[in-house]
Amino acid sequence: RRGIRRISTGVRALDELLGGGIETKAITELVGEFGSGKTQLCHQLSIMVQLPEDKGGLKAKALYVDTENTFRPERIMQIAKYRGLDPQEALRNILYARAYNSDHQMMIVEESKKIIEKENIGLIVIDSLVAHFRSEYPGRENLAERQQKLNHHIAQLLRIADIYNAAVVVTNQVVAQPDVFFGNPLKPAGGNVIAHGATYRVWLRKGKENVRIAKIFDSPYHPEREVTFRITEEGVVD
Ligand code: ADP
Ligand code: MG
Repeated sequence: RRGIRRISTGVRALDELLGGGIETKAITELVGEFGSGKTQLCHQLSIMVQLPEDKGGLKAKALYVDTENTFRPERIMQIAKYRGLDPQEALRNILYARAYNSDHQMMIVEESKKIIEKENIGLIVIDSLVAHFRSEYPGRENLAERQQKLNHHIAQLLRIADIYNAAVVVTNQVVAQPDVFFGNPLKPAGGNVIAHGATYRVWLRKGKENVRIAKIFDSPYHPEREVTFRITEEGVVD
């Protein structure tokens, strides 16, 4: 893919794992259990994208689609301050949209093209990508329709990422697979559709106290290595 740019995560170890940060013209999927740091990383990236290029950013704004009401302006301001930005201005540079259901979520992304064209948007966050879909289309009988809608949504996001040279970050919770006895009993909730649509998947796990462990999987371009980082008052750090 030509002309891709990178946004630093603000965590050196994680940047190294990603080959310099998260890429534009691609979807990066953060997968992990509750409390693994997905939302914290989304907050942090919404700040990092605003930094100048020499500090790992794109000097651009972020579009933040919040489906679970977990966006915290105070947290944004806290992280922004640590990264040397004016907290109020940093918050204004994050265009926030609360998605109330899956149709609303898809509509926001569809309509976002107009905003992205006008504003200098370098990052689109969807936190969480799958939560509404999972609750509105439960069970096997709804699986086909759910996957079809998610497919469409993901294709749309990829297209926008490509056209506007923006990075897309989505989160996905893991669900238990009771019928799996060997290997990892957890799997990403979105299933294979997301595996095909997302360019990079980062698996996050909890370590001791504020330590988190990240690993990239399903990527031929990245090492199957684990790195650790911490979540502190300053945000997500080495
Ligand atoms: P997920 O979105 O994967 O469910 P989060 O990104 O919300 O998880 O991570 C929540 C965790 O982040 C909390 O359990 C806490 O450990 C840590 N955290 C959040 N805010 C702060 C803070 N201000 N200082 C230190 N740790 C924090
Ligand atoms: Mg979250």
